[in-house]
Amino acid sequence: MYRIAVDIGGTKTIVGVIDAHMTVVDQQTFPTITESPEAEFDQILEHAQALLQKYQQIEQQTLNIAMPGPCDYHQGIFLNPPNLQAYKNFDAGAYITTRSEFKPAFVNDTDAAIRAEKRALPETTSSFVYLTISTGVGMALVYNGEVLAGSDGNMGEIGHTMIKSNSDYQCPVCQQYGCVENEISGLAISRKASTILEREVSTQEAIKLYLNNDNDEITAMMEEIMQMTAQLCTNIYNIFNVYTIVLGGGVTQSPLPYEECITTYAQAHILNTNKPINVEVSKLEANVLTGLYDVT
Ligand SMILES: [Zn+2]
Repeated sequence: MYRIAVDIGGTKTIVGVIDAHMTVVDQQTFPTITESPEAEFDQILEHAQALLQKYQQIEQQTLNIAMPGPCDYHQGIFLNPPNLQAYKNFDAGAYITTRSEFKPAFVNDTDAAIRAEKRALPETTSSFVYLTISTGVGMALVYNGEVLAGSDGNMGEIGHTMIKSNSDYQCPVCQQYGCVENEISGLAISRKASTILEREVSTQEAIKLYLNNDNDEITAMMEEIMQMTAQLCTNIYNIFNVYTIVLGGGVTQSPLPYEECITTYAQAHILNTNKPINVEVSKLEANVLTGLYDVT
């Protein structure tokens, strides 16, 4: 049996068909319509209807949707998603059910991703954290084989916890100076590099400049980012008593030496040395989309 799954990201949206083995059978991708949730969901429904026509094996009414938090996942209401501010209070559940036959189910995007990662890890890893670093930063926790989603599905908004007390950049979302998302995410890398070079610098270009050791200020900036990421992971090991962190998101798929930096730092500072710690970069291509199979 196939299911239709939707991954709404800060920059792109994927509407896909997935099977029980978490294979993506088909997918349509379009840039997320950040300024209009109505236009975004019209587009999603159009793609979903087309896929429904195309495949006989689709479970007719399922439409499993991953969205960036915080949200009311029970009803499908966006509350305050940092990268989709125009979606504040938009009731996607009501919008879909009044315009289609679909019965939507909603889940936090990192909670969808960790379901796919769980299947990819050995069964002996029954507790671990998934940390995604891309446009934003998020995390999810599997504890004793179960996804722990918090009291209302919004566990793991680690992007807006503090990591740098002397930062001069105020977060437009949480209003703090020095929160994780604005210090170590892909957007933060691009912003900081653009300030140093006084021109628009993409995340990829900044990473390249660092790896080639082209500019001392960029090198120092990136080293600080890698160190803060290692500190964040050490916080995670200490707080959640896990021994494995799986890193996901576009920035961690770059050649940046995340595994080495985090392991070296955490081994020097972690309190619990009962078992060796493990950091791995996700090898799954569409973990949010495929992880949605198990949601309903
Ligand atoms: Zn913030």
